[in-house]
Amino acid sequence: MKTLDSADMIFYNGLHLEGKMADIFEMMSKDKPTIAVTEDFKENQLRKVSATEHDPHVWFDVKLWIVAAEAVKKELIAKDPDNEAEYRENYEEYVLQLEELDKYVQEEINKVPEDQRVLVTAHDAFGYYGQSYGLDVRGLQGINTLSEYGSKDVTDMRNYLVENKIKAIFIESSVPRKAIEAVIQGAGKQGHKVEIGGELFSDAMGERGTEEGTYIGMVRHNTDTIVHALK
Ligand SMILES: [Zn+2]
Repeated sequence: MKTLDSADMIFYNGLHLEGKMADIFEMMSKDKPTIAVTEDFKENQLRKVSATEHDPHVWFDVKLWIVAAEAVKKELIAKDPDNEAEYRENYEEYVLQLEELDKYVQEEINKVPEDQRVLVTAHDAFGYYGQSYGLDVRGLQGINTLSEYGSKDVTDMRNYLVENKIKAIFIESSVPRKAIEAVIQGAGKQGHKVEIGGELFSDAMGERGTEEGTYIGMVRHNTDTIVHALK
């Protein structure tokens, strides 16, 4: 609250990613620009998860994050028009970096044999990633980290791994690893060895000051981890 209070502007993801914090943003928007960076996304750019809800994890399709960057540029210029030229310049330079990142991810994923392009994680954060770069994505926990997984989810996932001979499954920095370990144990009992392919950043970036503490570093880390484990 203190950090939000002291900010000149607030950018957040939107699409209900922030859950109940939406009420706080609503309140803050009376005092300062408070912007969901996904506000200009079009219906056909979003993954539907139910009749009324969209998958909020848009940042894992780098092409979509370029759209979000555009919203940030637009709002910065609206708030501080004197520095418009600088915001434009920074935006254009950043877009070049994102386009390069997008190409990198695709080239790396293409190195994984096609029948191994399956990404199994604790919760369903990688739908856009899979859709954009060509991986099947399975999450144990569904889209929401608050929803509890049950023993049926563990059994279903175990069967899926055994039947499809999937070699690696990934843990996430922001989700407890208990569930994933239960699946690995279950598969082991059936004689199928599944390894932890590494830790992915899903709903949170790494520590500030590390490579994974930036958006580009996080996406590269995830991609390198996935490709290394599945190749
Ligand atoms: Zn999530």
